[in-house]
Amino acid sequence: MSRTAVYQALVLRNRASGESNSEITMLTSEEGIIRATVFGGAKSKLRAHSAPYNSGQVWIYRDPAKDYAKISDFDVQSWRPGLRELYERSMTAGAVAETILSSHGGGGEWAQAQKLALETLDTLESANEELCQKLLIHFLWRWSGFLGIQPRLENCAACDRDASAEPLWFSVREGAAFCGDCAHEQQGLLRLDSGCRRWLALSGQLEPSALHRYSMDNKSFAEAKSLVTSVVTGALGKRLAVWDW
Ligand SMILES: [Zn+2]
Repeated sequence: MSRTAVYQALVLRNRASGESNSEITMLTSEEGIIRATVFGGAKSKLRAHSAPYNSGQVWIYRDPAKDYAKISDFDVQSWRPGLRELYERSMTAGAVAETILSSHGGGGEWAQAQKLALETLDTLESANEELCQKLLIHFLWRWSGFLGIQPRLENCAACDRDASAEPLWFSVREGAAFCGDCAHEQQGLLRLDSGCRRWLALSGQLEPSALHRYSMDNKSFAEAKSLVTSVVTGALGKRLAVWDW
């Protein structure tokens, strides 16, 4: 029986392990999150190949008796050097990676999870500072859809009234948005005006590469960011510090 398996992988994290090894955490299409060791010092070819946000085919050798996995080869298809050229890109990529890790890869539909991540990272590679911010909101919004926790933003969650022309109030505790009447007496509410909701509804249908065409004012931006981080916090059970930079 072969102990080497091949995966379509995206590197999410690369940490030094011991004196000259690295511990790599990847999102694979086949088995979700996988951890494996790369042996070799700074000059190792494999270590360079397994840098964060690289993606491609990876060969992993396992020794079940020793509970041990190592990367034996990595055919990198995308290097994404642009992610390291701008602080905001690198921070956004880190936020995407940590969100996926904290969600354990999204729980089953790994090829789809990887597709969402790759599309965002590919657009991020040439994004300016403003687009980086939008790409994070957009990723978190699509990720909430992927996790099945995206709240409806057209109608009140309690009375079902069409609220497209009025503000809705998102309840962090309920994970749903309510009209002014139904939101009454609820606590921890986020106000969502129509500008923010229109942008989310529209951008949810778009791939990241089309986002630059749709502007968003600062107020809508702030509302959208509060909403998407609150929604994903509900799923993860914690708020990630990497969302705010
Ligand atoms: Zn209502």
